[in-house]
Amino acid sequence: MSKSFHPPVRTLMGPGPSDVNPRVTAAMGAPTIGHLDPAFVGLMDDIKSLLQYAFQTSNKLTIPVSAPGSAGMETCFYNLLERGEKAIVCQNGVFGGRMKENVERCGAEPVMVQDDWGKPVDLNKVEDALKANPDAKLLAFVHAETSTGARSDAKELTALAHKYDCLSLVDSVTGLAGVELDVDGWGIDAIYSGTQKCLSCPPGISPVSFGDRAVEVISSRKTKVQSWFLDMNLVMGYWGEGSRAYHHTAPVNSMYGLHEALVILEEEGLENSWARHARNHEAFAAGIEAMGLSFVVAKEYRLPQLNSVTIPEGIEEAKVRAALLKDYNLEIGAGLGALAGKVWRIGLMGESSCKTNVLVCLGALDAILTDMGASINSGKAVAAAQAYYAK
Ligand SMILES: *Cc1c(COP(=O)(O)O)cnc(C)c1O
Repeated sequence: MSKSFHPPVRTLMGPGPSDVNPRVTAAMGAPTIGHLDPAFVGLMDDIKSLLQYAFQTSNKLTIPVSAPGSAGMETCFYNLLERGEKAIVCQNGVFGGRMKENVERCGAEPVMVQDDWGKPVDLNKVEDALKANPDAKLLAFVHAETSTGARSDAKELTALAHKYDCLSLVDSVTGLAGVELDVDGWGIDAIYSGTQKCLSCPPGISPVSFGDRAVEVISSRKTKVQSWFLDMNLVMGYWGEGSRAYHHTAPVNSMYGLHEALVILEEEGLENSWARHARNHEAFAAGIEAMGLSFVVAKEYRLPQLNSVTIPEGIEEAKVRAALLKDYNLEIGAGLGALAGKVWRIGLMGESSCKTNVLVCLGALDAILTDMGASINSGKAVAAAQAYYAK
């Protein structure tokens, strides 16, 4: 006989998923109804307007794609690019590399603008690339690079794209609800996010939003979008205005969860959510620095929700993560790509961004590293964070 699965209760402080509010999991346990039930159609409308709030946009085409963040990425590229076109892609970490893959799989040509891992996208390099490629259709970049913890200037990058008559395509999977994001104010044309980072919802859904210029591009394509499932022209028959027709069966219970997570965000207030992420990061950073450890990203470009911390000399990083999981039920992330083995990625996203998690994580790291004989300033981290909170 097979047995039921009972997951351990963890504290999630990696690069996502983050801790989920019990209200969200409770909402997901409500009775399943049909994906065309009038009650569900009403919920879909609510989700769309709550997403407009989270993205700060009045874009009508603001919907949750029924699949994880990577599907949001494909939705944006596949709908906006056609064979033979050109896109400028900024890469300063893992996810810019995936954007390149997407452009290639559209049969389009990526022009890469490379920056070092841990640095933000360089505006001057982007402007040079835009000047040198007047035929480029769009500029794609990652707002919040989860592989390094660097924040790029989505407002200025979008302004540059428009100056050279390009659309801007933004990955804010980790940015949404964690740092300032103003889709309409900044004029972003296409953006995708995820549920399991700062929205603190289980993984599996990808909110996307397209502005008027992007919608115009999508509706006047010469060729069909190569993905039937992600074709916005078809998806809108289900998620759009007016009568709803079957396209695919929405993950009904997951949508209950997303709705509840967005209600919680609205209750807190978007600005308050940004401020909470900033404050818990500052306290955490005070503790990390008091321990004598350092950050990969310079202070002014750091994402509060993703902290890349360098590993002390002579310490086997995987052993530390294993001890955190075994003794503290605490998950943190390993380095990815160019930073593998060199850093830990410690997430303070959504529900996980709270004082308790900051203090527990600092205390646990302090104890484990001291036990392993690392050259750190032992016994200082928690007090430094507490001192920050007391200010
Ligand atoms: C997590 C993440 C993704 C991918 O999202 P999935 O839900 O894992 O598919 C894309 N971009 C960034 C910046 C991310 O952090």
